[in-house]
Amino acid sequence: MGKHGADQSPMESIRAEAVVKSFGKVRALDGIDLLIEPGELFFLLGASGCGKTTLLRCIAGLETPTGGSIHFGERDVTKMPPHKREAAMVFQSYALWPHLTVGQNIAFGLEERRVPKAEIKRRVEEALEMVQLPGYGERSIDQMSGGQQQRVSLARALVVKPKCLLLDEPLSNLDAQLRVEMRREIRRIVKENGLTGIYVTHDQEEALAMADRMAVLTRGKIGQIGTPEEVYRHPRSAYVANFIGETNIISGDVLETKGGFSLVNTPAGPIAGRITDPDWAPLAGESVRLSIRPEAWRLHMDSGDNPVAGTIVERAYLGQRIQYWIETPIGRQQVVEMNPHVIHGPGDAAKLHARHDDVVVLKP
Ligand code: ATP
Repeated sequence: MGKHGADQSPMESIRAEAVVKSFGKVRALDGIDLLIEPGELFFLLGASGCGKTTLLRCIAGLETPTGGSIHFGERDVTKMPPHKREAAMVFQSYALWPHLTVGQNIAFGLEERRVPKAEIKRRVEEALEMVQLPGYGERSIDQMSGGQQQRVSLARALVVKPKCLLLDEPLSNLDAQLRVEMRREIRRIVKENGLTGIYVTHDQEEALAMADRMAVLTRGKIGQIGTPEEVYRHPRSAYVANFIGETNIISGDVLETKGGFSLVNTPAGPIAGRITDPDWAPLAGESVRLSIRPEAWRLHMDSGDNPVAGTIVERAYLGQRIQYWIETPIGRQQVVEMNPHVIHGPGDAAKLHARHDDVVVLKP
């Protein structure tokens, strides 16, 4: 824990129980159950309109759920006003006052709480140090770059010593390079201060790079919860497989299911893969989908699991990797080869293989 964390109370869990939120006829949240562990950096992901922001706003206290409850540690905060929850929010738009200085923006929440002047001064400087802007208190907001403004809005959130930090697309207004830099910065701040963080984003790469765990939402429900690796490697639905990363989806009929694996008949012959939904075991004859990641296909090996033959139709050279599109009896497959030594071109024959463990069997 950093120096700022020393006088803070212990980390807190965040729990949602059967949370429903309706706006007229729209059910933005349709029964959300979620337990975020103390000190965890947790991501909410999903397509536009799936309910991410609504869930975050319910947790912050900016919306009241239509049903269900929200708990911070042992406290039921469902009906508690936002300022009593000990949670601070950071917005995509920064929401800074342009006519106030950096320091005045950060001090605002403390003045509202009637904290003594000398303490405000000390805590503002401390918060500025935490976001690596020491001594910037006297600057005016319009002298700060976009990235610096987002740091100021982080400092403003941290200065009230929250237990939970709620971030709504905080990096969306920054350019690509700065976004990548700020990922590590935000993670550091959450961890050093012993905060429980919830982070909403559209950007699946941001989530994979930063999250301890993530939830993928679909139409107001949770589709899947897990670590980045669990969700990427073992998606439980074609929606999640497509949303997190890229994948090839193949249709087929089950020949046999045994020990968590199914053998599936496809136009390219039988393909075996792992079942990721523990509550499901497809029967012989059942239609299923297979998901195979572009990097799970191995190119030009003479032997291996799940052989499929095809012809290269397109390629893109990307330096550290090369991307191929390969026409096969199971459709056009996207294949990525890392660190390529030999570069093939359109018209070349291709032999593909994929390990059983790298093929995921999904409900259609
Ligand atoms: P985005 O990524 O586009 O921000 P989101 O996943 O955050 O989307 P929400 O903003 O939570 O989605 O919206 C979920 C659903 O609830 C949408 O259908 C939206 O139109 C609706 N909704 C959200 N806020 C309101 C509101 N104040 N009044 C009416 N409908 C709303």
